Amino acid sequence: MNLPTVVSTTTTPSSKPLQLSDVTLTYPDGDTRLTALDSVSLEVPKGTVTALVGPSGSGKSSLLAVAATLISPERGTVVIDGRDTTGLSRRELTEVRRHKVGMVFQQPNLLPSLTALEQLQVMAHLDGRSAKAAKGRAEELLDAVGLSEQARRRPHQLSGGQRQRINIARALMNEPTVLLVDEPTSALDHERGAAVVALLTELTHKRATATLLVTHDRAQLTAVDQIAEVYDGRLRRPTTATAR
Ligand code: ADP
Ligand code: MG
Repeated sequence: MNLPTVVSTTTTPSSKPLQLSDVTLTYPDGDTRLTALDSVSLEVPKGTVTALVGPSGSGKSSLLAVAATLISPERGTVVIDGRDTTGLSRRELTEVRRHKVGMVFQQPNLLPSLTALEQLQVMAHLDGRSAKAAKGRAEELLDAVGLSEQARRRPHQLSGGQRQRINIARALMNEPTVLLVDEPTSALDHERGAAVVALLTELTHKRATATLLVTHDRAQLTAVDQIAEVYDGRLRRPTTATAR
């Protein structure tokens, strides 16, 4: 693969921000079980965006939930920032998620009564740090997503695209190693959706996160670094994205 990134060859933890190996996941389905993920292996290098594409029901969201350690697979391993998460306690997994994983879902789920700035500060508070101390970082991130001017606005005073930008900034508050994004643009029109994906790519490169992005919009794939296709819970080998 010919990725435009610097991947360390040593085995320092950060050289493996996100690695799924041979992951199999099933759900109960009546008397039997439905195989949602079938021996999936995937590595997302630091500072790159991997797009996950595939038909509805192919297992994309399940793959993200496993990568987020929200669901433990029956078989296989999930390594986050060099640490194998297999067998960790619930509490240890919560710690891993808080410190290492940022998540962005379809709907921004912002708190209606908080300003844009406060939406971000809350993340630091949840992490046991003072919201006041986190103000500088929150302001910096709002600036990075182009919303400095809107810092004091509440969600109802913002457009759908702006809310999704806040959602992205919020996911970056705790400086995650891994950024997991599930169809962030489905509530947006084509142009705003493309702008959100371009922003995600830019932030990924600048902040050196390992980003896994589920998208249904093929037009957005020109902005990403590699593409992985899921079909019936199986993964095709990631390919480097075509030139921009
Ligand atoms: P995608 O995100 O690609 O649409 P999902 O990962 O949501 O796919 O779903 C993969 C398969 O697993 C589908 O057949 C879906 O119906 C099934 N599935 C997803 N979540 C659950 C669940 N919690 N319980 C049972 N089956 C599920
Ligand atoms: Mg899904």
